[in-house]
Amino acid sequence: AQRLFDPLQQFAEKFTVIQAGFTAIERVSDILDEPIEIRDQASRHLSGFEFGYIDEIVNNLDEHEVTAKRGEIRFEHVWFAYKDNDYVIKDLDFVIQPGEKIALVGPTGAGKSTIIRLLCRLYEPTQGQILIDGIDIRDVPQAELRRYMAVILQDGFIFAGDVKGNISLGDGYTIEEVQRAAEKTNVAEFIEQLPQNYHTQLRERGTNLSSGQKQLLAFARAAIRDPQVLVLDEATASLDVGTEALVQKALDELLIDRTAIIIAHRLSTIRNVDRIFVLKRGELIEQGSHEQLIEQGGLYATLHNLQMLGS
Ligand code: ADP
Repeated sequence: AQRLFDPLQQFAEKFTVIQAGFTAIERVSDILDEPIEIRDQASRHLSGFEFGYIDEIVNNLDEHEVTAKRGEIRFEHVWFAYKDNDYVIKDLDFVIQPGEKIALVGPTGAGKSTIIRLLCRLYEPTQGQILIDGIDIRDVPQAELRRYMAVILQDGFIFAGDVKGNISLGDGYTIEEVQRAAEKTNVAEFIEQLPQNYHTQLRERGTNLSSGQKQLLAFARAAIRDPQVLVLDEATASLDVGTEALVQKALDELLIDRTAIIIAHRLSTIRNVDRIFVLKRGELIEQGSHEQLIEQGGLYATLHNLQMLGS
């Protein structure tokens, strides 16, 4: 008989979830409670196979692969409601250029996390569409979407196992590849201080690591997959001074040549992005650089003065 609470089983499920890329801006345990009913467009089409579409579908599958990776994200008049007609995303319409860094700010409940969930296809828009490099994400196989985009949570999920395993997540990367990813993001410096370097055992949820250290590992985990798009929920918790500098350095490295969407909580991050999107009740009400928005004297300027940017 199956036990109701089996830590190992639970871990296995979480691990699968992470691998499946169903990591949104929530704790992994919360995500497990979310309905994940999205299937690839192809499989949905296949259910209509009695109509003789199958050859056409199979022939078209390759075209849907995101081959030339650029990292352009386009929301076309996207509306979304969790419940009937209760729209929490209202007519979002924007283009994020390849390599552009965007910060999402706005009061709690404004829709920041929902945007990320839509982008990861945890949910689909009620109306409108989301395209990456010109392709509707419903036409991109889930596996491809996961390779294309890395999502880094506030509290990078750590499982019981060694450092290497926590970076490679069972994807068969060699120790050299893991080291290279860690070096590229300046995370190696921290790993090399650990008692057994890449073979140091970590505790479940990373209870033997600081939050900054968990973030560093999450950065290396993202870097090894070389995604085109990086989605980041910046840590709210203040990091200790030593780690903070290291985390900033690692993040700067990771952001190079990638499109990034950051739910930003810290002023320093916001100042460095190309554009800030200010959300209020599901609407994009202001956008621009930090200086432009301060000058406009709107919600951003107010939130900025109150230091309530991303709460
Ligand atoms: P933010 O990340 O900016 O705080 P969210 O995207 O989490 O905002 O929330 C936007 C709105 O959607 C809020 O009104 C919130 O209550 C609602 N909401 C968020 N998640 C769910 C859910 N799973 N089911 C129903 N409503 C939700």
